[in-house]
Order: sequence, then structure tokens, then C-alpha cells
Amino acid sequence: MLSTENDLSSEEITDSKLIIQNALKNHEFIVYYQPQYKAIRGQLASAEALARWKKPDGSIGMPGEFIPYLEEGSLICELDWQILSEVCRFLKQRMEAGKEVVPIAVNFSRNHLDEGDFAARLCAKTDQMHIPHELIHVEITESSLASDSERIIALVASVRAQGFHVAIDDFGSGLSSLSMVKDVDADILKIDRSLLSDNLANDKDRIVLESIYDFANRLRLTTVAEGVETREQLGFLRTCGCDLIQGFLFAKPMLEEDFARICSRQATALGTDENASEDILMVQPRSSAMQLLTEVIFKKYPLVIFSNLTRNSYYMMTYDNFTTTSCPSAGVFDELIEHGASSMHPEDQQLFADTFHSDSLLAAYEAGQECVRIVTRQMGDDGIYRAVETADYFVKSPDSDDILVITLCQNV
Ligand code: C2E
Ligand code: MG
Ligand code: MG
Repeated sequence: MLSTENDLSSEEITDSKLIIQNALKNHEFIVYYQPQYKAIRGQLASAEALARWKKPDGSIGMPGEFIPYLEEGSLICELDWQILSEVCRFLKQRMEAGKEVVPIAVNFSRNHLDEGDFAARLCAKTDQMHIPHELIHVEITESSLASDSERIIALVASVRAQGFHVAIDDFGSGLSSLSMVKDVDADILKIDRSLLSDNLANDKDRIVLESIYDFANRLRLTTVAEGVETREQLGFLRTCGCDLIQGFLFAKPMLEEDFARICSRQATALGTDENASEDILMVQPRSSAMQLLTEVIFKKYPLVIFSNLTRNSYYMMTYDNFTTTSCPSAGVFDELIEHGASSMHPEDQQLFADTFHSDSLLAAYEAGQECVRIVTRQMGDDGIYRAVETADYFVKSPDSDDILVITLCQNV
């Protein structure tokens, strides 16, 4: 096995480089796929292609073993193009067989900046294989943004103009600032694994994460949490409004044939919604009776909101066919109440704002109340006032000291 550069003499480094260059020439690099799942319902949404070195002895080399050597020259670009070609071959094969496909994210090194017209090459490679551009997500690490932001902004714009999606990878790993993310017009923000450290036991870690997701959601970026390993992390990320989950909790990077099976299984499950219930059971084991109960609640209530009073956050579990539709699906609890109050009849606004202010709710919880319920008149999208019953049920989080509220709203 090759060691990292730090452990080696210069002669050994040269040997290692030659071995890796040969591996590239001999097409010894293969693609592992790591699925990305929707955070709330658990369906497969996409995957990331990760390079692995299949050595002549059959063992598998990890990126840490070969990428540093390839990055020294332009060879990393060659690897990225090889990985893209493999991904295109996989997608093409499935599409031709009429099988389900999902978008695949491919990592591209910052060295592509020096290659000339990146977008044109990307188009040529994908068009040659008849791959729709929206099936390829181009991942660029945040460290590239820091190194040459002007050129990256131009590159991202040219890639998106051709219909590819662009993801900023490893966001929060240290080098980029929020303003760079604002300036680079990407579609997806992948939040670095390091921000999930210590299983989010620390308040400050949670505040930082919540703020990042809030900021990304408001910029309408699709968010992907990288490196999710525990149910606690998943639970918290759901309350932050995180869109997609990539991590060992759901799936490790895997061989093409294993990923193909997951894609096909997903296709069958979609017809029956089997996958969604399977996933919820997997991450939050409950009896199937509980599942059915939840479904009944969603049928009865057009608006169901989960809020974390302690963290001042909320997300909508369901928001279908309600008379007003303008509220963001996740965000800050205090803002939700302000928004709700502003849509009420002027005579009911104060009652609504006072009853559901987080301090009042916490006081009601402390006083032992199980539920706070009022009826107010709310203006619908059609300009007509209707009586709405809002019932807030208190629940103690099973995983932390946080006080949660489940809000059930219906027209009465
Ligand atoms: P990345 O692009 O941020 O990829 C995600 C890495 O996080 C992968 O490591 C993946 O295995 C790992 N990971 C995902 N979920 C978990 C988890 O729950 N726990 C833990 N501990 N790790 C998790 P991997 O495959 O070792 O790749 C490392 C890095 O190498 C990648 O980070 C990417 O920057 C680079 N890389 C991989 N393939 C390519 C490639 O084809 N081209 C280029 N330019 N870089 C690549
Ligand atoms: Mg990546
Ligand atoms: Mg990453």
C-alpha cells in the first residue's frame, strides 16, 4: 500500500507518482457511488461518484492515497474526465435499458480552471453519450472558490448555462466565506462533515449549522449534509430544513452493481410509497400502526408544523391545500408566528401573536399544559377570511432537552 506523502522519502514519492500515473493510463480507477436521500421522506434523490483505485492485486485504494499525487500536475483532470466517462456509461446503459436513473455528482478539481473551455468539454463528453445535462452535477470544493473566485464564478456560470447543476462541496471546511457562496451562483450547497462533529452535542455547533441551513434555504440552494452517521444528526438536520442526506447512516460508497440495485428498488418502491415508510422505520423505528396514524393525521390536517421552541426553528411536515400558501417550509419559529399573525383578521392578530409567542408557549408547557388551542379568522389566498383552529401540542424531544411543538391547523 502507498503511504501519504509526509511519510515518504523523495525517491519513494517519485516511485509512487509513477505507479499512480500508470494506474491512470491503465484505467485502474473505478467509480463507487454514494446515494443521497431526501431528508424527510427518505427517497433516493441522487448520488456522488467517488474514485477508487482497483489495484492489480485486487485491493481498493482510497482517494487520500492517490489524489495528492495527481493534484500536483494536470493528471487529476484526467482522472475527473475518466470518472465522468464512467458515470455517463453507467447512465447511458440504464437509460437504454429503460431503467430508473438519478442525477450523479462528479468531483472536479480546481485544476480544470487552467484547462481551457471546461463547459465545452463537459458538453462534448456528455453529448457524445446522449446524457441529459441535468443528470450531471458538477462538484467544486469550497477551497477552489477561495483560491480564484473570479474565474470560478465565470466557470460556474458557463457550466450552468449549459443546463448542468453545480454543487459547492465541503462548505464550512474552513476556507470560504458566506459571501463567496452568495457570489458563486451554484444550485447545491454541500455542508462539510466536520460541522457535524461530536454528534452535535454542543449548542454552538447547532447554532452554526442552523444558521448555515437558514442562509442556504433563503438563497434557495439545495442543501446536502455530508457525513451523516447518527439518528441524532439526522433528526437535527431535518429540523434545519436540510434537503438531502449523504452519509454512512443510510449508505456507504458502493460498487456500481450495488448502486444499480438501489436505483431499481427505488423505482419499484415509488409506485407503492413503500420506500418512504421503510426509511422512516429505519431511522426512527416505530410500529407500523404509528405510520398509519401519522398518515391519518396528514389526511385530517392540511397544515402540520414541527417546531423546536428551544432552538426557535420549525419545518412543515405537510402544507397541502391549506387556504394560505405563502409561508416558507422551514425557518425561524418567531418569524413563522409573525407571518401567521399578519394573515389573521385585525381583531385576532394580537390574540394569535400573544398565544403562540415562544415565551407564552414555554410558560404553558412549564405550567403543565399539554396543548394550546385557539380559533382565529385567517385570510386565505382568495382574500376571504375563514375560521382556523390552531392546536399546539407539546412534546419533549426523546433525544435532547429541547421542547418541541406539533401544530395541527384546520379550517373549522
Ligand atoms: P468529497 O467529495 O467531499 O466526498 C465525500 C467523502 O466523504 C467521501 O470520501 C465519502 O466516502 C466520505 N463520507 C461520506 N459519508 C460519510 C460518513 O458518514 N462518514 C465518514 N467518515 N465519511 C463519509 P472519499 O471517497 O474518501 O473521498 C475523499 C475526497 O476525495 C472527496 O471528498 C473528494 O474531494 C476527493 N475525490 C474523490 N473522488 C474524486 C474524483 O473523482 N475527482 C476529484 N477531483 N476528487 C475526488
Ligand atoms: Mg464531493
Ligand atoms: Mg465533500
